[in-house]
Amino acid sequence: MNIVSSVADVRSQVKDWRRQGLSVGLVPTMGYLHEGHKSLILRAVAENDRVVVSDFVNPIQFGPNEDLDSYPRDLDADARLCEAAGAHLIFHPRPEDMYASDFCTFVDMSHLTEGLCGKTRPTHFRGVCTVVSKLFHIVAPDRAYFGQKDAQQLAVIRRMVRDLNFDIEIIGCPIVREEDGLAKSSRNTYLNPEERKAAVVLSRAVFLARSLMERGERNASVVLAAMRACIESEPLARIDYVEAVDAVSMQPVERIQGPVLCAVAVYIGKTRLIDNVTFEG
Ligand code: AMP
Repeated sequence: MNIVSSVADVRSQVKDWRRQGLSVGLVPTMGYLHEGHKSLILRAVAENDRVVVSDFVNPIQFGPNEDLDSYPRDLDADARLCEAAGAHLIFHPRPEDMYASDFCTFVDMSHLTEGLCGKTRPTHFRGVCTVVSKLFHIVAPDRAYFGQKDAQQLAVIRRMVRDLNFDIEIIGCPIVREEDGLAKSSRNTYLNPEERKAAVVLSRAVFLARSLMERGERNASVVLAAMRACIESEPLARIDYVEAVDAVSMQPVERIQGPVLCAVAVYIGKTRLIDNVTFEG
């Protein structure tokens, strides 16, 4: 497995594979890889001849007061995980490899990006759409793999691919969780032991929503009130949002009908965590 930082090196490797008629999968990540990322890489390895993992803390998807500088990084550990999972290439650019000092072109999206995480993070999805578009142009994969953990991101990428005619299949992968239910996340490392215990309230809330809907509850406000009460019972938790939205359009729903996403963002101390469940209806 190779680790490269220049766009030209990725392009020449992929060109070589294409000459041999091999298919290519891409797993975009911000590094500090865990079992959640590994599940995406394993799926990509199973479905493609060659797999590229991008490992890049994308500065333009962070807001001015967010955790860009403190975001955890460990390329050596990432390389071991990628190698063990069977990936073929890590693309680890430096910020200046991706963004020239006079960079001024962005991919932006309305509607889907306005609620949920877009409300608290108004420039986040512009950064995500821009970097993912760049990665799609650089790697030109057949398939790209994203986690359901970031459900709004997955919906946004699917829409971007449709709207901008990227010839790339988007594969959504299920959320990988810790034993107590907490969704695995690079940001879980910010939690102290007391906060780590409190963080289980996110998964409790989304599992509660799922069981209410499975038992026939169709009034979204009843489901949302139960989720809020669950989270508010934890003193270290502060709600950013608790929402029920159409799983494709990301618009709020009143009735649970068709695929609905119940999603939460919660501060545990200073750390903002997200979780969700999709109910197929
Ligand atoms: P990140 O490095 O946090 O940007 O995540 C890179 C990709 O891994 C995204 O598509 C995430 O949705 C996905 N991912 C992160 N955590 C998990 C998880 N616990 N289960 C499944 N996928 C995940």
